[in-house]
Formats: sequence, C-alpha cells, structure tokens
Amino acid sequence: MPLSRRSALSRIIAAGAASIFWQPNRLFAAQPATGSWHHHLGQASDLLGRRFSLDMHMHPALFPVKDIPRSSNPRPYRGDDVFAARIQGMREGHMWCGFFSPVVDAPVLGMTPQGPAMVRPFERGEAWSEFKRQMAVLDDLLRRNDVVKAATVTDVETAHAAGKIAAIVSCEGGDHIEDKPERVEEMVAAGVRSLQIYHVAPNSLVKTDGTRDSGLSDIGRATLREMNRIGLLADLAHASFETTAEAAEITTQPILSTHSLVRAADGSAHGFGMTVEHARIIAATGGVIGTFGGVGGGMAGFIEHTLRLIDTVGIDHVGIGTDMDGTGNMPAAFDRYPLLPEATARLLASGLDEDEVARVIGGNIARVLDDAQAGTNES
Ligand SMILES: [Zn+2]
Repeated sequence: MPLSRRSALSRIIAAGAASIFWQPNRLFAAQPATGSWHHHLGQASDLLGRRFSLDMHMHPALFPVKDIPRSSNPRPYRGDDVFAARIQGMREGHMWCGFFSPVVDAPVLGMTPQGPAMVRPFERGEAWSEFKRQMAVLDDLLRRNDVVKAATVTDVETAHAAGKIAAIVSCEGGDHIEDKPERVEEMVAAGVRSLQIYHVAPNSLVKTDGTRDSGLSDIGRATLREMNRIGLLADLAHASFETTAEAAEITTQPILSTHSLVRAADGSAHGFGMTVEHARIIAATGGVIGTFGGVGGGMAGFIEHTLRLIDTVGIDHVGIGTDMDGTGNMPAAFDRYPLLPEATARLLASGLDEDEVARVIGGNIARVLDDAQAGTNES
C-alpha cells in the first residue's frame, strides 16, 4: 500500500509559506498571500457545494444519553433544540453527511479522575436493549429533523440533491454483541454501517484485564469475520495497538479509525494519540483515519493534526472525525459545522489541491463505503 505520495509538510516548507504547522502563533500575522486561508474561502465554499463531505464521528447533542434510564454519566443530553441546531449547522457548513454514533456502553460509564471508565457491569441482555433503545431515539430525532437515514454514498448524494442532510449510523462499542456474532446481521438490518469494536467498557470482543484491551477474543474474531462477510465496516478507534494489529491482519476489508490523532514522537499507542506504526497499519488495509476534533489550538491545531496524519499515512487515508458534542473534557477545535468552510480553506492554503482536499473532507471514506457495498453484492 503506497504511503505518502507527497508530503504535505514538505510542500509547505518548499512553498516558503508562513506555515501554520511550525509557527501557530504567527497564524494571523503578515504572511504571503498564498499562505493565508482567508483567500481560499470562496474556493472552499464552491468546493463544498460540489464534493461529498462526511464527519466520521459525531454525537449531536449527546443523543445517546437522551432518556437514558440508568446512567452514572455526568454529561446529560443537551436537548432537542441543540440536535436541531447541529443539523442546521451541517446545512450552513455544507457537511453533507455524518456517522451518527450511538454509544452502547453509555449507561455503565462514569467520570473518574482518570477520565471516563466503567463504573458497573452490564446486566445480561442490557447492552442489546440499550443498543435498540438508542437506535429508536436516533430514528425519532432524524425523522423530526428531516434527516435522511442513508446506507450508501448514492443515498447521501440523492439526499444532497434534494437539499437534505443524511445520516449514516455508526455504532460506538460492540458491547451488545455479547456472545452472539450473528447479531451483526440484525445491526445491519437496523441500518448500522460501521461498528467500533471497543469503546471504554471491557467487552466480549476483546481480550482485556479490565482496564485495557490487548487483542481480539475468539468472539471478536468471529464478529469481525461476520462483519466482513456482510459489509459492516470495522472501526478501531479507542482500540490498542495489539487489537488494531490483529484486526488488520485478519480483515478482508479496509478498517477505520474514525476519530484519532497521530503523535509526533510518543511511546504510547493507546487512545487518541497513535504511533506512526499504528496509523500505518490502518492505512495499509486501505482504511481511513478521521482527525479527532478534540484537540487544542483551535482550527489551526485541527489542521496541523490533519496535515501530520496526511504526512504519516498519505492523502488517501485521512478524513475528519469531529466527535461533535462527545469530546468531554478535551478542548474541541471543530465544535460546530459552520467551521467546515474554514477547515477546507485552511487545507487549500496548506498547498493541497482541490482534489486532495475533497478526499480528506469525504472522498476517502466514500471510497471505503462504496468498496464495502460492492464486496457484499459480489458475495
Ligand atoms: Zn464518540
């Protein structure tokens, strides 16, 4: 799998622009016209009208915890009005579509000094009913906000042509699989297109000591094979290097990491900051890594991380994963959709051409969705 076909970073340096990458504090200082993103806003808006865009990870208004019966989670649902405002923001910012993500382990999570952690076990069958409960909550919100529930890129394009926002359902956490990989089929029937194997609570799909995942369990392997067979995409965001490497080894389809970052130089492979090797394992399957929106430094910081990812895995393997309303205590750089034109303009200003920017804002994830669909049709 080819890695970086050209280095975004070296292009910036070669162009001699006052680089946001190296001098973030000089972002608004005098700099060559070619380096100023403001000059690219018109081009960005024009591009966004024509090219498919998709946020790879979002929980607008924290809908997964709406009407939640039993939760220790201190962050409540933000309200139907906030959900509606997010959809309106997608219209204004030209974000055509998103992976709307239920969070299956939400009822068993609580905030600890170390961050979110499991504070009680699931009762038998509880995770499956929680999955179905959140799907019903989401379906209701989508219907009331005139959002089209989409399964394919064509569905999204049709919705866009009709002036509508589209939602693809992507499930965070595989807790509800329990010991039944065959539930994958029911998930797909309910409209889910991607499953994040592991979130925070230890689940049956991974080997775990109760605090971290260290590979796929037998049930996890069987589930991944079933997902490949049926065309349900595997998302390895939050998973450890070991779990990701095992999934990459056995998968027959590209794998995703919907909201992640790559660290410049760091030993830890867990969580949002991946090592270079970790990121390249995902890219080598043909997959896509969405830049996590919970970074510091505002939009300049978000673009810095996006360019670092492009530099690490190549332009064909990077997307956007804002984690809208889900970043918790982390500072959210991409915290509203009307920022998409600015993000697009900044990518253009960095020296990427229109076609490359179009791949990052949605073209790459569209390719993976199309391929998974084609794979199912053939089998
Ligand atoms: Zn999330």
